[in-house]
Amino acid sequence: MAEYNELIFEISRPGRIGSSLPESDVEKVDLHDKLPAHLIRDLPAELPEVSELQLIRHYTALSNKNHGIDNGFYPLGSCTMKYNPKINEDVARFEGFSRIHPYQPIETVQGALTLLYELQEDLAKVTGMDAVTLQPSAGAQGEWTGLMMVKAYFAQKGEKRTKVLVPDSAHGTNPASATVAGFKTVTIPSNEDGLVDLTELRKHVDHDTAALMLTNPNTLGLFEKDIVDIAKVIHEAGGLLYYDGANANAILGKTTPGKMGFDIVHLNLHKTFTTPHGGGGPGAGPVGVKEKLIPYLPVPRIEKENDRYVLNSHHPLSIGRVKGYYGNFGILVRAYTYIRTMGPIGLRQVSESAVLHANYLRKKLEPYFESPYSQFCKHEFVLSGSRQKKLGVRTLDMAKRLLDFGYHPPTIYFPLNVEECMMIEPTETESKETMDAFAEAMIQIAKEVEENPELVLEAPHTTIIGRLDEVQAARQPVLRYSKEK
Ligand SMILES: *Cc1c(COP(=O)(O)O)cnc(C)c1O
Repeated sequence: MAEYNELIFEISRPGRIGSSLPESDVEKVDLHDKLPAHLIRDLPAELPEVSELQLIRHYTALSNKNHGIDNGFYPLGSCTMKYNPKINEDVARFEGFSRIHPYQPIETVQGALTLLYELQEDLAKVTGMDAVTLQPSAGAQGEWTGLMMVKAYFAQKGEKRTKVLVPDSAHGTNPASATVAGFKTVTIPSNEDGLVDLTELRKHVDHDTAALMLTNPNTLGLFEKDIVDIAKVIHEAGGLLYYDGANANAILGKTTPGKMGFDIVHLNLHKTFTTPHGGGGPGAGPVGVKEKLIPYLPVPRIEKENDRYVLNSHHPLSIGRVKGYYGNFGILVRAYTYIRTMGPIGLRQVSESAVLHANYLRKKLEPYFESPYSQFCKHEFVLSGSRQKKLGVRTLDMAKRLLDFGYHPPTIYFPLNVEECMMIEPTETESKETMDAFAEAMIQIAKEVEENPELVLEAPHTTIIGRLDEVQAARQPVLRYSKEK
């Protein structure tokens, strides 16, 4: 249906309208009597003129052009694009949750505060921490919040520590958050097994070390088996351990960052706890801390006084507020619903399935792609396109070719320490059939690289838009329709 590949401005015809209301009987006023001249437009707004049916078809067609969890496999490593159960949406729309105001007297929102309080408790259990704040609205903001607490903690002790250590496989937000929080980032190289190199770590740890930020399992999907020793090295130097728990679907119900020796954790509810993400919409990055950091948590804190829930801002050492109100409430309702519908056994099964799925897919693909860390992985794994690169086809080309098969490509060129990296996270919610079909597509692409590389180099063939000039798209984005092209 060619018509619906056009822009809405292109199907516009003068005088066509999308509504049929009776003629207005309100007297027309001359705006010039009411408003200063410079606020009044000279010409009518340039809006598309279409019928209601054209409008509906246009936007329905647009929505079908998107790729999302609800219409296809989305193995984007480190992003945990798993299914978001619809019951979460139903509950978030309950009037008692969706029609309240943050400035309502707290006596009238005890239910909402109960939910927030219990979610804090649940997340403290999941992470093995002593207290949790729900305020941060993303993983990166959680990191920054955690690091501001680290800063406040040392300031209170009269210490000025300036360094934050980050392994080279870390998510880019880690060094960014450390920098924004005013620390100097020191990169720790991984060893050949893709893990933190203890010898290298020891070289960099001193009394200027405020914290080590670690993802475990790391972004290669590997569990840091020396974590207890790593924690010891940091703690002996007086530093703190920060856990990047954005992707916690390998450890739920199995172990906790608390047990591993971490002092601070952030979680991404919009990854692990099935609140929607991917469209740049609201997220939630709660942060959990061990006892010694509780005084520094953001205010207001949601606390229980006898049978009543209160918002307490009287914590003099707090780093203050990091977000308007109490966090992205609707997202928190969804996560709470998920945790309650899964229960402790369900959450444990999440981890077991996430790990099983990743290893299943890894084994299926390993004969066809270079596997730099061919060992048991957790929720995700990395492959390298280095074998294909020798034949003139790059990982980017294979990612584009996957679009022709109807799949969202894996994360590519991250982590940075793997050449031509593909980072694949099938997630626990996918069926064996879906993973088998994806593996077949990947295997076919590997064969095409050998037999008919042009097919891959020129991909995608079936999408409306082919390859974009990504540099130009980032530097000079065209975000507005203009008649003069
Ligand atoms: C996604 C992710 C982040 C950042 O989370 P945002 O909500 O996008 O800010 C941090 N660390 C890891 C490992 C991640 O996967």
